[in-house]
Amino acid sequence: MALDDDIERVLWTEQDISKRVSELASQITDDFTPSSSPPVLVGVATGAFLFLADLVKHIKLPIFVDFIRVESYGSGTQSNGAPKISFDLKLDIQGKHVILVEDIVDTGRTLSCLIAHLESKGASSVSVCSFLDKPARRKVQFELVGKGKFYRGFECPDYFVVGYGFDLAELYRNLPYVGVLKPELYL
Ligand code: 5GP
Ligand code: MG
Ligand code: MG
Repeated sequence: MALDDDIERVLWTEQDISKRVSELASQITDDFTPSSSPPVLVGVATGAFLFLADLVKHIKLPIFVDFIRVESYGSGTQSNGAPKISFDLKLDIQGKHVILVEDIVDTGRTLSCLIAHLESKGASSVSVCSFLDKPARRKVQFELVGKGKFYRGFECPDYFVVGYGFDLAELYRNLPYVGVLKPELYL
């Protein structure tokens, strides 16, 4: 298949992902059970769309789901400046526990911006559930709000990955696994 032919190496298969996502959902289910009001899971569009969909199916609790969009990258593989919220929440999160569902924490700039935004809207706690984490590239340390926790799927080596929501110029998001493209495709 043409899409698969562009991949040099698979980092996490569909099976790896589904196992890890259900583990994360069980942790969230355990951690939020005593909470009186259902947590709000906020998916960061577009990258987190598959992760959010898979995650919520395995959370055995009442939850709210919403989306937010933030622009931080152009079509290439490098950041092009300060992130900006371009599509905001529909739900009122005042006094609610929010779980921000992200595709990846890279420099940490997007996450810091989003956490500050959710805090300013009155969330009583902000947790982060990120599918991947690239700690080697961190430029900004983010701080959770209230009793918020940090959940992460996998630690990612310093490669630019595609698939399972991750794009290059908006393509490859629909691959069911995460991989690295052949080097000539990044040029
Ligand atoms: P940060 O603000 O933490 O530097 O960047 C976060 C955003 O950068 C992610 O939400 C994602 O859109 C993009 N990003 C960072 N690393 C990768 C990667 O390896 N592959 C893809 N496709 N996007 C990435
Ligand atoms: Mg993201
Ligand atoms: Mg992108």
